[in-house]
Formats: sequence, C-alpha cells, structure tokens
Amino acid sequence: MRAMGGVAVTHAGTGAPVRPPVPGGEVTAPPRAGVTRADWRRPSRARVARIRARLAEIYGVPVAQPHGDALAELVLTVLSQSTNDRNRDVAYLRLRERFASWEAVRDAPLEEIEEAIRPGGISKVKSVRIQAILHAIGDPLDLAWMRSAPVPESQRYLCALPGVGRKTAACVLLFSFGLRDVPVDTHVSRVGMRLGLLRPKAPFEELHDEMLALTPPGAELEFHVNLLRHGRRTCHAQRPACGECPLRRMCPSRRD
Ligand code: SF4
Repeated sequence: MRAMGGVAVTHAGTGAPVRPPVPGGEVTAPPRAGVTRADWRRPSRARVARIRARLAEIYGVPVAQPHGDALAELVLTVLSQSTNDRNRDVAYLRLRERFASWEAVRDAPLEEIEEAIRPGGISKVKSVRIQAILHAIGDPLDLAWMRSAPVPESQRYLCALPGVGRKTAACVLLFSFGLRDVPVDTHVSRVGMRLGLLRPKAPFEELHDEMLALTPPGAELEFHVNLLRHGRRTCHAQRPACGECPLRRMCPSRRD
C-alpha cells in the first residue's frame, strides 16, 4: 500500500487501499473487477488523449496503408490464432503458394489445407474453419463490397461466418480498408483494463464497443497497435514491468 505523508490511504467504508492522485490522470484506484456495466464510468476524453499521447511518444504513430484484400485478411486472422506472427505468416504463404485461388482452397481435400498450414499450429481446427468460412461466403468469393458498405452491416456479415467474432471482423475492416473498427485482442484488453480504459472482465462484445467509443476517428490503427505493443513489451500478462513502465504515473494498476 502507498502512503501519503506516512499515512496509509484507504477507501472510506471499505478499508480497501487506494492510490494517491497521480499527475496526468484522474484515476486514483485500481479498476474493480466486479463493477457492472451500468456502474462503469468511461474515462474522460482528456485522459484517453493523455494515454494515447504517451504511447505515441514511446512507440510512435504506426502507419499501414489498407491493403484492400478482405478475404486474405480474414484467412490470415484465422491463421493467427494461438501462434506468433512468424508462424502465421509461414502458414499463410504456404497456403497461397500451393493453391492458385481461394476457390481452390475451398474445394481442396481438407488434408491438403491442413498440411499447407501446419507451421501455424492447430492446423486441424484452422483448416476446417477456413474451408467452412469459404463455403459460407459462397460465390463469388469476394468481400470487396465491404469497402463501401456501412461498417455495422459488414460486422454483422462477418460475425455470422463460422468461428468469426468481433476481433476478426475488426481486423478485416481496419487492416483491409481502414474502416472504423478497433480489434481488441488479449493484449489490448489486458492493458486497457489495467489502465482503467476498459471495464474489468467485460465480455468481448462490450470491449469492442467501448474501444470504438474511446477511440477518436482516424486513431483506430494507432491506438490498437500501441496498446498491443505495450502489452507485448512491458505490460505482460504475468509480470508487468511496472517499475520501468513509462505509463506508471497514470496507471491505477501499477505494482510498486
Ligand atoms: S504500470 Fe504496470 S500495469 Fe500499468 S500499464 Fe504499466 S506495466 Fe501495465
């Protein structure tokens, strides 16, 4: 427990320890795990802006031009599950090298898909999912219409595909077309909760809605990538490196 002037500070009534006010942020207590959605107070725009600015100072502002291939992004995101970026990319390249088109991937014997993507891990599951998605899209195998469709319409379409959720849908829309959606993966959700941006233990649907509400238009890629980088480099799941964290002065979850 921290102390101000040698006096331990506790919540009135509960006796739970609280942190003293910190420069650069109005959050003074760690986010409570049991807080309901109705009781949750979204952080102010000013606080979100300060956190974004600090992250940008550390990690820069990422730039990635939308590549325009939603189907490729969809398959790549399926391949990214439970593996690292390198193995995902190896699996994806092998798939593209062995099959001339997405139609060929859809219609190939399952074992051939499984063999092609094996370096990406859990290839039995992923091969079934990729073919199920391609079958569900049907003909033509093309998602280019999403470029000009309303985002909620594309989200609904993508989330109705087998095994596709909000995170995958957000990856497709943001990375393919630069549309307004923010993927919330395990790093983004963990760092967001620790910083008091997101409600602890909120379901993924809510996390995506909240991230979108917190993110100014045009900052979707930047906020996603920088929270993710911070989760990978410093705010680790098991042992966050709070002692060397550049955000510690504005973090209500910091460990001393
Ligand atoms: S102070 Fe600790 S918990 Fe807070 S963001 Fe930094 S590493 Fe994560």
